[in-house]
Amino acid sequence: MRFGERQHKIRERLQLENLDALLVTSMPNIRYLTGFTGSTAQLLITESETLFITDSRYVVQAERQVAGRVVKVEESYLKTVGETIREARFRRVGFESAHVTYQQLNDLFKPVTGTLMFVPTTELVESLRLVKEPEEIEAIRRAVRVTSDVFEEWIEEIKPGVRECDLALELEYRLRRRGAEKMSFDTIIASGQRSALPHGVASDKRIDRGFVVCDFGIVLDGYCSDITRTVYVGNPDGQAREIYGTVLSAQLNCEQHIRSGMESRAIDALTRDVITARGYGEQYGHSTGHGVGLEVHEAPRLSKTANGVVPAGAVVTVEPGVYVPEWGGVRIEDVVVVTETGCEVLTPTPKELIVL
Ligand code: ZN
Ligand code: ZN
Repeated sequence: MRFGERQHKIRERLQLENLDALLVTSMPNIRYLTGFTGSTAQLLITESETLFITDSRYVVQAERQVAGRVVKVEESYLKTVGETIREARFRRVGFESAHVTYQQLNDLFKPVTGTLMFVPTTELVESLRLVKEPEEIEAIRRAVRVTSDVFEEWIEEIKPGVRECDLALELEYRLRRRGAEKMSFDTIIASGQRSALPHGVASDKRIDRGFVVCDFGIVLDGYCSDITRTVYVGNPDGQAREIYGTVLSAQLNCEQHIRSGMESRAIDALTRDVITARGYGEQYGHSTGHGVGLEVHEAPRLSKTANGVVPAGAVVTVEPGVYVPEWGGVRIEDVVVVTETGCEVLTPTPKELIVL
């Protein structure tokens, strides 16, 4: 059972960190460890058992779905979690420092007496999520496939005079019809001068001449997709073709040379060096990519300041871009699985410039 195995790996980490238990409060981490698809719960993983703490809205669902013993919250999460911890006489309980607010921590600490200590931990569960299991890669592949299929049918809707927000609505409707649970982030449709905004969420602007950056993704069976393609409406001039070609070369260079064991920042350099060599380094402000899984932005980060090495089985985006203010921009993004010999590109959509 994969949830059991994942929980077992956390128990091994508890021993290493000399913790009696780990309080997990990040919902994607809770889903990863138990299979729970609801929106509110907390998880206490101890040496001997997994306590799944949730409220009356989710008890029935949790009893069917969750790998672990379900504990119903009586008055508040805080009270139930606090009492459970005190009754077990734990000494050192880890919490997820990136996912607990100052106020929650204060409230947890308040009734603490004796020798109990709350210990901040970082990325215990995230470090497991970094390397995808084969079933996870298949889930991401399905999400990416639906995203690409719908994109390829939908692009004919991009015409002068159509509003970006109406294009986004039509795209999202088609994706939902194809099984998407929801979008994995706010759909970006940025046309003309707005394409120079790296995160130009669809507005009421009407399509005219120029680039249209389309960046969107879905959640399917809990797993995310993320794609960007940039099309051109009208006749692209030399500068437009040159910038598109630069971004495409950078994107392809990264997919050709990325492999496991490389430093994150060396992977970032695979796109950045190409763009810088062609004189557009200043117009490429963001990082090369990010991990994709239960969350659309997760570890590892592929940037010029990121630390660490990317392992085989990581699923990441490769998405360089060039943005010229008041003129326009281009970004091209695929999702790839990093392997020992290179990568497998999951996004099937062609990348040659599409002129509409
Ligand atoms: Zn994207
Ligand atoms: Zn992305």
